[in-house]
Amino acid sequence: MSLRPRARIHLSNIADNWRTLRAMQTSGVTGAVIKADAYGHGLRQVAETLHEAGCDHFFVAHSHEAEITRAMLGSHPNIYVLNGPSPDEEALYRENALIPVVNSSFQFRTMADWLVDGVKMPRGFALHFDTGLNRLGLPARDAQDLAEASEGQSPILLMSHLACAEDSDAAMNAHQATLLETVAEAFPGVPLSLSNSGGVWLGADYHHALSRPGIALYGGGIAPMGMTLKPGMTLEAPILQVRLVETGETVGYNATWRAENETLVATLAIGYGDGLPRSASNKGFVMLGEKRCAILGRVSMDLITIDVTNAADLARPGVYAQLIGPDAALEEQAALAGTIGYELTTGLTPRVKRIYET
Ligand SMILES: *Cc1c(COP(=O)(O)O)cnc(C)c1O
Repeated sequence: MSLRPRARIHLSNIADNWRTLRAMQTSGVTGAVIKADAYGHGLRQVAETLHEAGCDHFFVAHSHEAEITRAMLGSHPNIYVLNGPSPDEEALYRENALIPVVNSSFQFRTMADWLVDGVKMPRGFALHFDTGLNRLGLPARDAQDLAEASEGQSPILLMSHLACAEDSDAAMNAHQATLLETVAEAFPGVPLSLSNSGGVWLGADYHHALSRPGIALYGGGIAPMGMTLKPGMTLEAPILQVRLVETGETVGYNATWRAENETLVATLAIGYGDGLPRSASNKGFVMLGEKRCAILGRVSMDLITIDVTNAADLARPGVYAQLIGPDAALEEQAALAGTIGYELTTGLTPRVKRIYET
């Protein structure tokens, strides 16, 4: 038996989470964000699962992710490239019928060059306006000028991105929605898209024509009270060795943990080389059956050490313990390591064996 850490990917849970988001949505259609290998869950498998569930709008960051998605799903779905087009990619966008998201005046000129001979993009293009995030996006104040400049080559979608969607009290949410609606006045009839996962939870004023949830599909982020999402993956690692550590002895590099009592310690085959953050040292936890076992000492490249004093009956070589999943909430594990669920699942390296379950 292999002693690799593994992530069992729960494709049916991801589909169920997409249906939950769709059921929440009061207007428009529900898309899916599958960038960064579907947040570490597997681009091809997640794309196929959600397409079968009825999703027709997929968002990725890069054109190469879009190419993979197109090859996987065939000609039907709409595939948007969030980071936008590069001047040398016209053939790639046209051949794969990708929808460029135009984010900047530079990208707007690229699009104008591609459209100069009057040949439309196969599925059109989207315009992304900045409404306060100040990351990507055309300036909202340029909406009228850009509308005039794209006369006859109208965008198929106007989008923006929320800065504080996970905070339903943030005044910035309503401000951004209002600004997007002002932009829309320059483009009569063009559909709008504003919401990521957090925006879907904000309610009807944020749903518009198309939503772009990512993290919620994978069971992460902050869902509203009473809303349960299912875990997208179960991350597990096997026990390699169990030892008794005497009072006063230390565990791990730099001896950062010292036993105050005799402690049963298990060593697991997972470390920062697998994407478990080193910041989980002395902070994170592992579930062995129903027993919560603290990470003791430093996370090293290939190994962690955990306290199994209260789980002695379960602690045997070859037994798998859970780091993320139904018994170990993604966001709790991430927060203990000082990060967020997005970074934790996206950071899992190829050494973690992905096992696809339907
Ligand atoms: C990543 C991303 C999303 C998805 O955000 P989640 O918080 O994961 O739901 C939506 N829109 C844009 C522009 C993004 O970059």
